[in-house]
Amino acid sequence: MKRTPMDLEIRGFVESSFLDWDGKIVSTLYVAGCNFRCPFCHNSGLIEKPQDYEIIPLERIEQFMLERKDFLDGICLTGGEPCMHKKRGLFEFLRHIKDLGFQIKFDSNGTDPECLKDVIDQKLVDYIAMDIKGPLDERYDKLSGVKTDLSKIKQSIKIVMESGIRYEFRTTVVPTLLETKDIEDIAKYIAGAEKFVFQQFVAAHTWDESLRSIKPYLREKLDEMVEASKPYVANTLIRGA
Ligand code: SF4
Repeated sequence: MKRTPMDLEIRGFVESSFLDWDGKIVSTLYVAGCNFRCPFCHNSGLIEKPQDYEIIPLERIEQFMLERKDFLDGICLTGGEPCMHKKRGLFEFLRHIKDLGFQIKFDSNGTDPECLKDVIDQKLVDYIAMDIKGPLDERYDKLSGVKTDLSKIKQSIKIVMESGIRYEFRTTVVPTLLETKDIEDIAKYIAGAEKFVFQQFVAAHTWDESLRSIKPYLREKLDEMVEASKPYVANTLIRGA
């Protein structure tokens, strides 16, 4: 069956965001569903009960964006995990947005390297933000909340780093789950990467309720993590703190 851009179910629409793509103004679009269960995720509703979120018609998104083409740079497609929709209109949707003349930032958890390779090879994305939940070893499962095929994550890291397009790797720094040594181990693995971003942990609405009382790391601790990472990734920065 031939897919169309309308087949991709967008279930969240932030009309204008200054925060989701450094230096750009974008509409942020959310798809439902994810194959991870990160304990610190605050989109659990979108993942477990997508039917509670209305599907936003493509025409509405398109009309909003076209009327603001002078100041909107493009979209950030996030989730959930967009690659879970690769057979449900993902590629057609991205192509449609590109054909309208907008740029695309693509968020992914890196579990589907073939999908990442396809969106890159087909020139459907301008920027990739890939999560690296934790060090690339037995510690990963605790951060992703599921048994994770690390070979896929490693393939995705390689594909992104060799893609020739702009990208960042990002890690949510969750107290009790990640320490400076863990961050340093991630940085070593992605040595030479273009950008490594630490996202400040936000305790509200986390999937794992026991994390809701955890205080985020103080700035000094985050700075210590940045210093530990910088010998490997010079462009390491903190977001949200
Ligand atoms: S990968 Fe992202 S959307 Fe999926 S569970 Fe983890 S934090 Fe939530």
